[in-house]
Amino acid sequence: MEHNSSNFIRNIIKEDLESGKRNHVITRFPPEPNGYLHIGHAKSIVINFDLADEFNGKTNLRFDDTNPLKEDSEYVHAIKEDVQWLGYDWDGLFFASDYFQEMYERAVLLINKGKAYVDDLSPDEIRSHRGTLTEPGKDSPYRERSIEENLDLFERMRKGEFSNGEKVLRAKIDMKSPNINLRDPVIYRISHATHHNTGDAWCIYPMYAFAHPLEDAIEDVTHSICTTEFEDQRPLYNWIVEECEMTSTPQQIEFGRLNITNAVMSKRKLKQLVDEGFVDGWDDPRMPTISGLRRRGYTPEAIRAFVRETGVSKGSGTVDSQMLDFFVREDLKMKAPRTMGILRPLKVVITNYPEGQVEMLDAEINPENPEMGTRQIPFSRELYIEQEDFMEDPPKKYFRLFPGNEVRLKHAYFIKCEDVIKDEDGNVIEIHCTYDPETKSGSGFTGRKVKGTLHWVEATQAVPADFHLYEPLLLNEEPEELEGEDTEEGTEAEKTFLDQVNPNSLQVLKGFVEPNMKEVSTQDKFQFFRHGYFNVDPKLTTKDNLVFNLIVSLKSSFKL
Ligand code: ATP
Ligand code: MG
Ligand code: MG
Repeated sequence: MEHNSSNFIRNIIKEDLESGKRNHVITRFPPEPNGYLHIGHAKSIVINFDLADEFNGKTNLRFDDTNPLKEDSEYVHAIKEDVQWLGYDWDGLFFASDYFQEMYERAVLLINKGKAYVDDLSPDEIRSHRGTLTEPGKDSPYRERSIEENLDLFERMRKGEFSNGEKVLRAKIDMKSPNINLRDPVIYRISHATHHNTGDAWCIYPMYAFAHPLEDAIEDVTHSICTTEFEDQRPLYNWIVEECEMTSTPQQIEFGRLNITNAVMSKRKLKQLVDEGFVDGWDDPRMPTISGLRRRGYTPEAIRAFVRETGVSKGSGTVDSQMLDFFVREDLKMKAPRTMGILRPLKVVITNYPEGQVEMLDAEINPENPEMGTRQIPFSRELYIEQEDFMEDPPKKYFRLFPGNEVRLKHAYFIKCEDVIKDEDGNVIEIHCTYDPETKSGSGFTGRKVKGTLHWVEATQAVPADFHLYEPLLLNEEPEELEGEDTEEGTEAEKTFLDQVNPNSLQVLKGFVEPNMKEVSTQDKFQFFRHGYFNVDPKLTTKDNLVFNLIVSLKSSFKL
């Protein structure tokens, strides 16, 4: 497997192994099952699995499922599918919720050491006591409860004697710490809710900041790789591992998040796009989710190459989505069969071609990969070309069809436009042409040259197909920047990103493809000559109706 060279985490691991600080490597990918994975998660997956792979280590898939209100088995299933599709096999498959008993016992240990206390302050009061960057926090009046009282109250919290929010368990660290995360963070809360894994066994749940270091230590994770927003939590992470007397001591290392242009990445925002009907599900081909990219036609190879190319550093930036497009073109160039499809059909009649006759022409499947062989395509008196390939009154340098002009039909003959047929309103509905049998493709004809080469589909056997063309789902290049922090309650700010939804992000065209396309399977990928790469949509394609999703256009788009 190839690895990107700019990766500071690799250097840390290498040194740890060389110095003897570690004798093995275990990483983990720890998604919360509260949504589908997106391309940012792909980055985390690739980093964790690639590093373990490079140092003969292991990578766990761990569901960080400590919040019963947001999590669901549907997401667990989808996440597993996406990780496997990206090409990775996890070593251990774990659920943080399987550790609830151990976490509870570690919390009791903290209480016994005088390092945790039950607090009766309301969430608002806790917030106002916390202080600010410039102002120290204030102790809670419950901070000095006795160990016995704390043990009793915590047990009663567990038994369900209190309602949501009535009490919390807090780590007793330092209300005056310059690091706000160390000002007695809440480590357990009451939530009378059914959990997707543990059902109603628990009504108290550990907070992320308490649970995560324990999960890592329980699994003997050596390098716990996360994104930079957790940097300030690292002292708390270390405090918990130490004070909970974990035998294993994982090291948290942060790297910069991946963002891509014209996309939001937060699962909360993606869920909003789904729930409010802006898209057709988490796997809508316009979504930056792994399932959306898959349905659009991006390949795991392209996604892996893309995220590797973005490198691993502390800084986070917005990467142009065109870079991902570059990698998918690279990947499909050799693999995808070439074919011809007409997106906006215009009928052409070859007036000097015998009526009723059909001939089969040889066409190479991939000029860049001749091993793929040839296909047979029919040619007859009636064809479809693209509407945009004909102009009655063209500007200079228009080399396609216009009255009196001759062009080449790919894999077939030269044709010359002789006549234009219009309806009552003056719209062009049919073009009459003549062909020259001497110019047959492959015959070695050199008598004269033409400047334009058009794609086409024989009309009587053409297979109708829908083409879905896409523009970015969001108009703003950096929609994540539109709001500040990704807060739980930021409803006001959410408006701004939804305002950026592109009303033209999906265009559906009804056209035709070659008759040999009748046999395609969903997720098959093709390069339609002069248009770009397309994927057979797995959700909308039926036996009678093919749907092709535009993955990416060709780099050199044919411009007027
Ligand atoms: P979101 O805000 O999108 O919900 P999250 O960080 O809450 O993301 P998790 O399910 O907790 O989502 O993420 C699992 C792992 O993926 C974490 O280690 C997280 O840091 C990483 N991750 C999430 N988003 C990105 C991103 N944009 N770039 C790189 N890594 C990411
Ligand atoms: Mg998270
Ligand atoms: Mg999240």
